[in-house]
Amino acid sequence: WLDRLKSGLSRTREQFGAIGSLFSRRKIDEELLEELETTLLMADCGVEATTALLTELRLRWKRDKLETGEELQAALAEALKQLLAPLQAPLDISGKQPFIIMLAGINGAGKTTSIGKLTHHFQAQGKSVLLAAGDTFRAAAREQLLEWGRRNNVTVIAQDGGDPAAVAFDAIAAARARNIDVVLIDTAGRLPTQLHLMEEIAKVRRVIQKAEPSGPHEVLLVLDANIGQNALAQLKAFDASIGVTGLIITKLDGTAKGGVLAAIARSQPKPLRFIGVGEGIEDLQPFDAGEFVEALFV
Ligand code: GDP
Repeated sequence: WLDRLKSGLSRTREQFGAIGSLFSRRKIDEELLEELETTLLMADCGVEATTALLTELRLRWKRDKLETGEELQAALAEALKQLLAPLQAPLDISGKQPFIIMLAGINGAGKTTSIGKLTHHFQAQGKSVLLAAGDTFRAAAREQLLEWGRRNNVTVIAQDGGDPAAVAFDAIAAARARNIDVVLIDTAGRLPTQLHLMEEIAKVRRVIQKAEPSGPHEVLLVLDANIGQNALAQLKAFDASIGVTGLIITKLDGTAKGGVLAAIARSQPKPLRFIGVGEGIEDLQPFDAGEFVEALFV
């Protein structure tokens, strides 16, 4: 996985690799730190996280008498790992059956793909999975999920143009009847107005809770890493309406904006349950801060 992660993160790695070459050239001075600041901003770390990292590095430069670029790079890796540590909180599905996961996110974020990958992830742990095609506004989304379910022998609860909340309700009842371990509930990603969307998914959430008072046990927001700093605004909006309990950040491959993780950690930390680094079924894995930083620098 580490090798896969490294190749997946190649574009963000280039951004951080630039830091490496920045460092190897010379001794630490203010000019070097300013160049580093620009590079971090370009990797979409955001102003707050970048400032925090720079403050930490300046402190260590003086306090620990760092001299070489290599020493500064090691200090940066350490500071980044500490910054990202609060995001590391793997999803634990034990203790509830069925464990109900609601997924939200705007169209194209990678929700449907992530549902397929998550199903594979849980099945690999010997768990049974049932899917709810809760995006009843987009026939293609329902078809995509149904097709995926057929191919992989997973039950998909769907309704032709029906009420998304009703689909979620039926899915939970079906999961109980069949002794299923994990229910993954898809939701719509775009409606005529964004306000409408938030009302709709908040309703799905309420109905899930009616069907299972302890649920949903996880509300996962799927974010596309390519949107960079906009991820913060999306997180805020979804969190206000459905109470996000965990994140999936997709498409970290093919983007140089991997620094968005630092921005989230600094401004709106939420458990980052999984990261996606490709379209393959294995390309979604639990987030590990140490591994992530190692993949960026080593
Ligand atoms: P949805 O509209 O949110 O359900 O998005 P989809 O699941 O249909 O994904 C939109 C596109 O993003 C598809 O072409 C996926 O193959 C692609 N995708 C999803 N996750 C990843 C990822 O981690 N890396 C890459 N490269 N592509 C991804």
